[in-house]
Amino acid sequence: MAECNLESKAFYNAIHQDVLIGSRCKDCGHVSIPQRLICRVCHSDQAEQIEFSGFGTLATFTVIYVPPTEMVEAGYNAKNPYCVGIVALEEGPRISAQIVGLDLADPGKIKIGMPVRKTVVERGPEDKRKKVLAFEPA
Ligand SMILES: [Zn+2]
Repeated sequence: MAECNLESKAFYNAIHQDVLIGSRCKDCGHVSIPQRLICRVCHSDQAEQIEFSGFGTLATFTVIYVPPTEMVEAGYNAKNPYCVGIVALEEGPRISAQIVGLDLADPGKIKIGMPVRKTVVERGPEDKRKKVLAFEPA
Protein backbone atom coordinates (compact mmCIF):
# COMPACT_ATOMS: atom_id res chain seq x y z
CA MET A 1 0.00 0.00 0.00
CA ALA A 2 2.97 2.34 0.56
CA GLU A 3 3.64 2.34 -3.17
CA CYS A 4 0.07 3.46 -3.90
CA ASN A 5 0.48 6.36 -1.48
CA LEU A 6 3.69 7.40 -3.19
CA GLU A 7 1.96 7.28 -6.54
CA SER A 8 -0.98 9.43 -5.56
CA LYS A 9 1.25 11.86 -3.69
CA ALA A 10 3.31 12.52 -6.82
CA PHE A 11 0.09 13.00 -8.79
CA TYR A 12 -1.33 15.53 -6.33
CA ASN A 13 2.00 17.32 -5.94
CA ALA A 14 2.02 17.75 -9.71
CA ILE A 15 -1.53 19.17 -9.62
CA HIS A 16 -0.25 21.81 -7.20
CA GLN A 17 2.35 22.73 -9.83
CA ASP A 18 -0.38 22.86 -12.47
CA VAL A 19 0.88 19.74 -14.22
CA LEU A 20 -1.13 16.64 -15.02
CA ILE A 21 1.03 13.52 -14.92
CA GLY A 22 0.54 9.84 -15.59
CA SER A 23 2.51 6.92 -16.91
CA ARG A 24 3.07 5.11 -20.16
CA CYS A 25 4.02 1.43 -20.24
CA LYS A 26 7.29 1.02 -22.15
CA ASP A 27 6.26 -2.50 -23.16
CA CYS A 28 2.71 -2.11 -24.50
CA GLY A 29 2.21 1.66 -24.61
CA HIS A 30 -0.79 1.71 -22.27
CA VAL A 31 -1.28 5.15 -20.72
CA SER A 32 -2.56 5.51 -17.13
CA ILE A 33 -3.71 8.39 -14.96
CA PRO A 34 -2.67 8.62 -12.17
CA GLN A 35 0.62 6.89 -12.90
CA ARG A 36 0.94 3.17 -12.15
CA LEU A 37 4.05 1.24 -11.23
CA ILE A 38 2.63 -1.95 -12.76
CA CYS A 39 0.86 -1.84 -16.14
CA ARG A 40 -2.81 -2.72 -15.84
CA VAL A 41 -2.80 -4.34 -19.30
CA CYS A 42 0.43 -6.35 -19.58
CA HIS A 43 1.64 -6.26 -15.92
CA SER A 44 5.02 -4.90 -16.97
CA ASP A 45 6.89 -2.84 -14.37
CA GLN A 46 8.56 -0.75 -17.06
CA ALA A 47 6.65 2.51 -16.84
CA GLU A 48 7.75 6.03 -17.66
CA GLN A 49 6.18 9.19 -16.30
CA ILE A 50 4.43 11.37 -18.86
CA GLU A 51 2.81 14.78 -18.79
CA PHE A 52 -0.64 15.20 -20.30
CA SER A 53 -1.59 18.16 -22.49
CA GLY A 54 -4.62 18.78 -20.27
CA PHE A 55 -6.98 18.75 -23.25
CA GLY A 56 -9.78 16.27 -23.74
CA THR A 57 -13.50 15.85 -24.24
CA LEU A 58 -16.38 15.46 -21.83
CA ALA A 59 -17.33 11.77 -21.83
CA THR A 60 -20.17 12.00 -19.32
CA PHE A 61 -21.24 14.23 -16.45
CA THR A 62 -23.63 14.65 -13.57
CA VAL A 63 -24.85 17.71 -11.70
CA ILE A 64 -24.68 17.38 -7.90
CA TYR A 65 -27.43 19.08 -5.91
CA VAL A 66 -26.81 17.26 -2.61
CA PRO A 67 -23.05 17.56 -2.07
CA PRO A 68 -20.75 15.81 0.40
CA THR A 69 -19.49 17.84 3.39
CA GLU A 70 -16.32 19.09 1.72
CA MET A 71 -18.33 20.58 -1.15
CA VAL A 72 -20.96 22.05 1.19
CA GLU A 73 -18.07 23.82 2.93
CA ALA A 74 -16.94 25.04 -0.50
CA GLY A 75 -20.34 26.72 -0.91
CA TYR A 76 -22.28 24.18 -2.96
CA ASN A 77 -25.87 23.19 -2.24
CA ALA A 78 -29.20 22.56 -3.96
CA LYS A 79 -29.38 26.18 -5.12
CA ASN A 80 -25.72 26.28 -6.13
CA PRO A 81 -25.00 22.85 -7.63
CA TYR A 82 -21.77 21.76 -9.27
CA CYS A 83 -20.86 19.48 -12.12
CA VAL A 84 -18.63 16.40 -11.99
CA GLY A 85 -17.60 14.81 -15.25
CA ILE A 86 -15.50 12.07 -16.75
CA VAL A 87 -13.00 13.59 -19.14
CA ALA A 88 -11.43 11.53 -21.93
CA LEU A 89 -7.94 12.98 -22.23
CA GLU A 90 -6.59 13.30 -25.76
CA GLU A 91 -3.85 10.81 -24.82
CA GLY A 92 -6.52 8.18 -24.07
CA PRO A 93 -7.20 7.67 -20.38
CA ARG A 94 -10.23 9.01 -18.56
CA ILE A 95 -10.35 10.89 -15.29
CA SER A 96 -13.13 12.22 -13.14
CA ALA A 97 -13.06 15.84 -11.96
CA GLN A 98 -15.21 18.86 -11.33
CA ILE A 99 -16.20 20.69 -14.52
CA VAL A 100 -16.32 24.45 -13.99
CA GLY A 101 -17.44 27.30 -16.21
CA LEU A 102 -20.74 25.72 -17.22
CA ASP A 103 -24.25 27.14 -17.00
CA LEU A 104 -25.87 24.65 -14.61
CA ALA A 105 -29.27 26.36 -14.74
CA ASP A 106 -29.97 24.17 -17.78
CA PRO A 107 -27.79 21.00 -17.67
CA GLY A 108 -29.46 19.87 -20.90
CA LYS A 109 -27.25 22.37 -22.72
CA ILE A 110 -24.07 20.62 -21.57
CA LYS A 111 -22.90 18.47 -24.48
CA ILE A 112 -21.22 15.09 -24.29
CA GLY A 113 -18.09 15.29 -26.42
CA MET A 114 -17.52 18.99 -25.86
CA PRO A 115 -13.85 19.97 -25.71
CA VAL A 116 -12.47 20.74 -22.26
CA ARG A 117 -9.12 21.71 -20.81
CA LYS A 118 -7.46 21.32 -17.45
CA THR A 119 -7.67 23.96 -14.79
CA VAL A 120 -7.44 23.93 -11.00
CA VAL A 121 -9.81 25.10 -8.31
CA GLU A 122 -8.72 26.00 -4.80
CA ARG A 123 -10.66 24.63 -1.86
CA GLY A 124 -10.45 24.45 1.89
CA PRO A 125 -9.96 26.88 4.75
CA GLU A 126 -7.49 29.77 4.34
CA ASP A 127 -4.68 28.00 6.20
CA LYS A 128 -5.21 24.64 4.50
CA ARG A 129 -5.96 25.74 0.94
CA LYS A 130 -5.45 23.00 -1.62
CA LYS A 131 -5.50 22.91 -5.39
CA VAL A 132 -7.85 20.39 -6.95
CA LEU A 133 -7.93 19.24 -10.56
CA ALA A 134 -10.87 20.53 -12.59
CA PHE A 135 -11.75 21.05 -16.24
CA GLU A 136 -13.43 23.91 -18.09
CA PRO A 137 -14.83 24.36 -21.59
CA ALA A 138 -11.91 24.72 -24.04
ZN1 LIG B 1 1.83 -2.61 -20.57
